[in-house]
Amino acid sequence: MKKLYHGGKILTMEDRMPAEAVLTDGAKVIGVGKKEELLRMAPDAEPVDLDGKTMLPGFIDAHSHFTQVAMGFLQVSLDGAGSVEEIHNRILEFIQREKIRPGSWVQARDYDHNLLPDGKHLTVDEIESLAPEHALVIQHKSGHSGLMNRMALRHVGITTDTESPEGGYIGKDTKGLTGYLEENAYFDAAKKVPMPGPEELLHAYEMAQEQYASFGITTIQEGMLVDEMLPLYQLLLNARILKLDLAVYPDKETLAAAEQQIGMYGTGYHSHVRIGGIKIFLDGSPQGRTAWMTEPYQGDEDYRGYGTMTDMEVLDALREAGKRKVQIIAHCNGDAAAEQFLNCLETAEQEYPVLRTLRPVIIHGQFMRPDQMLKARDLGAVVSFFTAHTWYWGDVHVQNFGLERASRISAAASALACGLPFTFHQDAPVILPDMLETIWCAVNRRTKNGIILGADQRISVWEALKAVTVNAAYQYFEEDQKGSIAPGKRADFVILSENPLEVPKDRIRKIRVLETIKDGESIFCQGH
Ligand SMILES: [Zn+2]
Ligand SMILES: [Zn+2]
Repeated sequence: MKKLYHGGKILTMEDRMPAEAVLTDGAKVIGVGKKEELLRMAPDAEPVDLDGKTMLPGFIDAHSHFTQVAMGFLQVSLDGAGSVEEIHNRILEFIQREKIRPGSWVQARDYDHNLLPDGKHLTVDEIESLAPEHALVIQHKSGHSGLMNRMALRHVGITTDTESPEGGYIGKDTKGLTGYLEENAYFDAAKKVPMPGPEELLHAYEMAQEQYASFGITTIQEGMLVDEMLPLYQLLLNARILKLDLAVYPDKETLAAAEQQIGMYGTGYHSHVRIGGIKIFLDGSPQGRTAWMTEPYQGDEDYRGYGTMTDMEVLDALREAGKRKVQIIAHCNGDAAAEQFLNCLETAEQEYPVLRTLRPVIIHGQFMRPDQMLKARDLGAVVSFFTAHTWYWGDVHVQNFGLERASRISAAASALACGLPFTFHQDAPVILPDMLETIWCAVNRRTKNGIILGADQRISVWEALKAVTVNAAYQYFEEDQKGSIAPGKRADFVILSENPLEVPKDRIRKIRVLETIKDGESIFCQGH
């Protein structure tokens, strides 16, 4: 069926001038231009009046973890909860929202007793009050301990007679079990918590898909597929619930099995899923003080974070990518990690020149220096910045790295100046995949404390929009299909309440996504 979109501001991202109208036929765009001309091409097209709203190509998620986003819907986050009341409210809301039947398991994560008023763990009575009709397990933010209510303890077979295992501790006092489990006691118990069933898993994937769509995203990523996730993918593929396009990046060891299951690299999407290449990660994160830096952290004489792979391992992965002719995406946060990757890439490209045409992606590239950007450009690489770091952790970075280095985080203006292709991501579920917030961050670079972090790294709204549309399509080798609104490309669109190019820069993150259209079909709509 043909549709004629008109009556709004259509930013094709091909051209700074908005288009008057767009004609689609099913999943494809077949015309862009004057309404009159397009009507002549297709007099029977169904008119879609944008009513003054702004239409753009669908946003492209340059890096995130789809399955982890989905799994987040199966657990309630207690992150930042600072009182028993708040913990209680979050759990209650989760049980109601997810309609969890009495007697079933409820899993909570990111509980932190340090945030409670006296810094003490919840008492047995408090734990019991949280979800008396459910088996409740609460994982501590450290991942190394947890709490269980009586029903949960009963299900995993822990009684007052159970002795603490080697390297673990089962909390007890004069009245019996306290519900607190530490290290091996917790790990053993957690293993007995049943995995969610297929129905729950699929529901979680659906919720995740809807979340991305609600932010105007039409192409998403599985930023690291490991062996254990293959059964989940079997389920996902069989159920055919995907409407968004999903590019999957297995680790080197899982690539062959993933190709068996999903389809060979380079053969495009199969039921909306394709293998994107392989994923490696070279260091940790700046907010966790584990990003691998060439200079020491602020206030530390020689601590520089650390790498997670040897040069040999990085080279092996690159050679594998070269041999198999697949794209490689590499998590590098610190500049030392970027250095290692670029040096190895340079070596590997001498052996496998094809690598430079495979658009290797540096994921995060938070502290890449200008000299590294030039080198990356010359090696044919792309960098994808986790841009919203300036807002979420900008103030922490100033403490960890000093103002000068912190000001260079996500240095988009430098990348732009040297001609290194760059994209933006949110690394969901680390933060929500909120593209407009990310664009707001890239053009304002404000921290939560209100400082402007690296004013010279701010870029224009137009360039920020390109990062999540045309540039991201390029990163995925999909520029002939996506990233802009042009004849022959997919009918993937997002409709916004206001035009990001016209509102004051500070208002960009207040713009709402009204509708998301994938392959010509509306997949998210909140009334406009
Ligand atoms: Zn990462
Ligand atoms: Zn990631």
